[in-house]
Amino acid sequence: MRLANHDGRLVIVTGDEVVDVATASEGRFGPDPQAAYDAWDDFTAWAAQRPAPTGKLEEATLGPVSPRPRQVFAVGLNYADHAAESGLPLPEYPMIFTKFVSAIAGPYGDIVLPSTTVDWEVELVAVIGRAAKAVRPDDAWSHVAGLTVGQDLSEREVQRRGQPPQFSLAKSYPGFGPVGPYLVTLDEAGDPGDLALGCSVNGEVMQDGSTRAMVFSIPELIGYLSGVCTLLPGDLIFTGTPPGVGQGRTPQRFLAPGDVLETTIEGLGTMRHRLISPAG
Ligand code: ZN
Repeated sequence: MRLANHDGRLVIVTGDEVVDVATASEGRFGPDPQAAYDAWDDFTAWAAQRPAPTGKLEEATLGPVSPRPRQVFAVGLNYADHAAESGLPLPEYPMIFTKFVSAIAGPYGDIVLPSTTVDWEVELVAVIGRAAKAVRPDDAWSHVAGLTVGQDLSEREVQRRGQPPQFSLAKSYPGFGPVGPYLVTLDEAGDPGDLALGCSVNGEVMQDGSTRAMVFSIPELIGYLSGVCTLLPGDLIFTGTPPGVGQGRTPQRFLAPGDVLETTIEGLGTMRHRLISPAG
């Protein structure tokens, strides 16, 4: 199943049509995309009855699949080949930071560049469907609603400030956490441990990797995170990026006004954003 935030309303996507959940369920489920995660078991049981489409998919109206997560986790250096590119050893434990929730954005549209050192990071994002507290990795998938595409946009100068550096602020400018276009449930998402993912700037491929290179798998991350925090329905986990980020290139390259950034994961879809200057 594919879910989307369609002009602010929860829909099930079936090809080029959508099922408006509030309409088709006659109000049993509300229109708020965030609410589906809080009622995940009831919602998926209802959706399994394959309600009839209620309208056409209008891609341009799609918003973030989880617009108001209560927590957003992100993982640094979680691809062996990206750690090598960064000149850093493989971490012994997952390196966790947050993207503050005001950075969450939809899969299309404009993102304001606050500086000349903003970088891209394609990431597979897991969305929590059932609360998770101290779960074992072998039980972790039952707590996941599905997967989506994310961009962990990063302001590299702010990211290096402080000693030791703290990543969260540099990754939380408005629009720096786009997710979408769809929430793809696990039965349709392919093998999460073997998905091609990448991004391009103005059509030029910058990242072209595979989730096979992840250091800590999604179940391992959920086991680790839920040993500390209670993971809540709708929470997002950005799971790290493969090589090819701008700061790792020679010469370094960052996003400029007018650039078009396309972010893709096999089977999950493509996000498309235009970077703009603060003046527009
Ligand atoms: Zn990242």
